[in-house]
Amino acid sequence: MSSSTRFLPSAFSLFLFSFFLSSFFPSFLPAQPTPIIILHTNDTHSQLESYYDADLKENVGGVVRRNTFIQETRKQYPNTIVVDAGDFSQGTPYFNLFKGFPEIELMNKMGYDVVTLGNHEFDNGSTALAKRLKQADFKIVCANYKFKNKQLAKCIKPYTTMKIGGKKIGFFGLLRDIEKQVLPHNYQEVTFLDPLAAAQKMVDLLKNKEQCDLIICLSHLGINAEEEGDVTDREIAAKVAGIDFIIGGHNHLLLEKPEIVNDTKILQARKNGIYVGKVVVND
Ligand SMILES: [Zn+2]
Repeated sequence: MSSSTRFLPSAFSLFLFSFFLSSFFPSFLPAQPTPIIILHTNDTHSQLESYYDADLKENVGGVVRRNTFIQETRKQYPNTIVVDAGDFSQGTPYFNLFKGFPEIELMNKMGYDVVTLGNHEFDNGSTALAKRLKQADFKIVCANYKFKNKQLAKCIKPYTTMKIGGKKIGFFGLLRDIEKQVLPHNYQEVTFLDPLAAAQKMVDLLKNKEQCDLIICLSHLGINAEEEGDVTDREIAAKVAGIDFIIGGHNHLLLEKPEIVNDTKILQARKNGIYVGKVVVND
């Protein structure tokens, strides 16, 4: 790739699972588990085309470039998961003209697996959002909103699980207080619930009932508080044990290395699809 889309280097590696293989084949097979790769974006904000970034002084982003990176990674590592931490809508004329449908269609084509929503997904209201989400081939998770809107309730689940590389991964989503973020007429039939209580409930369920090997929270809470009373990714990590990764968004921050709080790694990959974060789970 010439002028770069920027990809965060492997944020870190875990060796959680190599034990299993080596104990099954102790004497004659080297333990070589296929790594699980998690690619993550956040706050891509309808930035479908590449553009010149004045700070970086080069052409960056765009779904063509992002797609190339995702497909090349998938070819090299079949156990690749692609996730997004919300606010894939709003920010360019594409959203105003086409009402967010191209964003969903392109995420389908790029092969996103699991996403959570951001506050801007609600910009045209609950009913319009439900129409768009119906087109999604990926799972959509949010554990701390109650959806009385039946169409939204059908599309958005508190959590999902995925088996990949012989492991079971649990994903759940957390969103900001919708009353602080979204105009009242745009979040009809949606109620905000305490993110800390929702996170604890999800971890208990994913560990005990679903028996997940790895727990990932897709969060649009933000790592930093924007105003008093905000629950942040840091607070979730500090108070709810057992989350392996919080893949975050909203603050548009670039965390080149994960911030580690209470054994939970918190990640965020700036904005506009300039970066795709890459985590190697077991290589
Ligand atoms: Zn946001």
